Amino acid sequence: MKTAIISDIHSNLAALEAVLGDIDQKGVDRIICLGDIIGYGPDPVECVDLIAQRCEWSLMGNHDFGVLYEPTNFNTAAEQAAYWTRNQLDDAGKADTEAGMKRWEFLGRLRVRVGFDGFLCVHGSPRRPINEYIFPEDAINSPVKMEQIFENIDTHCLVGHTHVPGVFTNEPDFYPPGDLDGEYTIREDEKAVINPGSVGQPRDLDPRASYAVIEQDNGQAKVRFHRLEYEVDRTVQRIRENAHLSDWLGERLLEGR
Ligand code: ZN
Repeated sequence: MKTAIISDIHSNLAALEAVLGDIDQKGVDRIICLGDIIGYGPDPVECVDLIAQRCEWSLMGNHDFGVLYEPTNFNTAAEQAAYWTRNQLDDAGKADTEAGMKRWEFLGRLRVRVGFDGFLCVHGSPRRPINEYIFPEDAINSPVKMEQIFENIDTHCLVGHTHVPGVFTNEPDFYPPGDLDGEYTIREDEKAVINPGSVGQPRDLDPRASYAVIEQDNGQAKVRFHRLEYEVDRTVQRIRENAHLSDWLGERLLEGR
């Protein structure tokens, strides 16, 4: 069984299209999404529709939650983007009522926690599934936090939210894909938290879109991390042309931060 894991699309249609195209060439059995479909980027309607069509399921991220309910603890650019995103979805719903209702229903039904094949899947962390960040530096600086997080996991966990790809083990340690040659075999006798990175807003100083594929075979699971160039200028230009989205949201895409 081959599963593509995508996360943190953030309304970046150019990145999502490129990643889905790449996934299509890898013969995966299913695609799952760890949340933050929308927020920040210029194409929320198209991204929600594509995720609804192409993914077996998606989780609720803090930005999906912020657009649906209330953007709390967001910086000004993120808050503005959340309100603008909500208006976009409303306007699209006025143009096509049925499609609009389906979109809101899809977003409203996103789950915060899903178990599949031995993996616990959450957007943020097992303790606070929507909002808590598990940062790479936590493996060194916050051993108690990491211990508590691993206490909440039976075996393996998939998370998004930080936009930084890699594997946390309960040593505790963090391995970026570069240290793993892009591939990690999950041992049965260890606990691991895996982050596929972000499709639409990478923050590890590599602007390429990030995702992962998990291959399960006879109880063994292998994670392969992928990076992909996409038409980042297309998204940056759409952000620049949009008076409601801060130019900074485009600039950070060019730098991967
Ligand atoms: Zn995010």
